[in-house]
Amino acid sequence: MKPAPFDYHAPESVDEAIDLLSSFGDEGKALAGGQSFVPLLAMRLTHFPHLVDLNRVSAMAGIERVGDRMRIGAMTRQAAIEQSTEVATLVPLLAAATPLIGHFQIRNRGTIGGSLAHADPASEYPAVALTLGAGFEIQSAEGPRRVAATEFFRSRWTTCLSPEELLVAVDFPVRSPATGYAVEEVARRPGDFALVGVTCAIGVNESGRVEDAAITLFGVADVPWRAAASEDLLRSGEGDLDVVGRAAAEGLRSVDDVHASAAYRRHMSTVLVTRAARRALEEARRG
Ligand SMILES: Cc1cc2nc3c(=O)[nH]c(=O)nc-3n(C[C@H](O)[C@H](O)[C@H](O)COP(=O)(O)OP(=O)(O)OC[C@H]3O[C@@H](n4cnc5c(N)ncnc54)[C@H](O)[C@@H]3O)c2cc1C
Repeated sequence: MKPAPFDYHAPESVDEAIDLLSSFGDEGKALAGGQSFVPLLAMRLTHFPHLVDLNRVSAMAGIERVGDRMRIGAMTRQAAIEQSTEVATLVPLLAAATPLIGHFQIRNRGTIGGSLAHADPASEYPAVALTLGAGFEIQSAEGPRRVAATEFFRSRWTTCLSPEELLVAVDFPVRSPATGYAVEEVARRPGDFALVGVTCAIGVNESGRVEDAAITLFGVADVPWRAAASEDLLRSGEGDLDVVGRAAAEGLRSVDDVHASAAYRRHMSTVLVTRAARRALEEARRG
């Protein structure tokens, strides 16, 4: 299949990209790694008269520490994140989740900004962003704005970005001492999207008691879903980890599709939350 005809634009700066997007409105769309967008165009599931290719906007790629945050440009390839020793040391959950995205060919082109802006509910990065409390740098002709991960994801494939806005960068807090992290997922084959997945961060105090917990399920609902009841149980110190896992399904309206039933997804959510919480807790207590 071939996409419907479109006009191709290749800006070299953020300002130029924003000017193009604001002049086209909802007739224009950013193109990043193309790993999700190009198949949609080729199958004619979507069409935009103007494509704004971000691949020459070098200012949008790169990984740098800014104070106690790691700032990652939206056009940074997933492969660059996977290979970064700084990310491995300072944002270990992001490093651990990255190799689970598709295959290396996809990660060589796919970008962090593309994955977040695409907001596939089965994607790893949106869940990592929610678990770690990422910040999103967004820019348009109106100027920059910053939103939290909790505001960014609205629904399946839908974010708070307007057609004129560009996601420029995302930042994550650097790891705090005595915090453990884990990512777990179930997929039919390695490289497939997760049927059910979980990212988890647990912080403990000097006596090993849980002080903070963030658990996000992905692949189960229309948006990455915080397992708040499990987090509360961990913080309260009540219940063993099986109870913490079972609480993950409280209030969860899991999706039912050709890949897996809602009941299967609920069940696996409880199993994976128990497993991830155990691993994160062990790592946190090891220090
Ligand atoms: C076979 C296969 C398996 C895959 N498996 C997984 C998987 O297991 N897990 C996973 O998470 N992903 C998976 N993916 C998707 C992959 O991670 C993509 O890289 C990602 O979803 C989109 O990133 P991209 O850079 O390719 O963006 P594109 O496909 O170029 O763009 C995606 C969307 O984001 C918008 N966009 C991109 N960048 C910006 C920006 N800076 N500002 C505003 N809007 C922007 C585009 O307009 C478009 O709507 C898979 C893809 C394939 C083909």
